[in-house]
Amino acid sequence: MNVNLKLKCYNCESVVIELPMSKISKKEGLNYLCENCGHFNVLKEQNFHKGIDRNPMINIFGIDEG
Ligand SMILES: [Zn+2]
Repeated sequence: MNVNLKLKCYNCESVVIELPMSKISKKEGLNYLCENCGHFNVLKEQNFHKGIDRNPMINIFGIDEG
């Protein structure tokens, strides 16, 4: 069974991306940009935390990725 996890922005709590559990572990530590509020979220332990926005060109994946 494939369970999708909805990852919510740490800042505005809108769903940034939805991924199956099996894929989330492979994306640990990546940064995702919240299109709603523009804050970066870093994926850690299956949750979003405040991301690092100093290097916005590194590890950015859009919603269509994966
Ligand atoms: Zn947000």
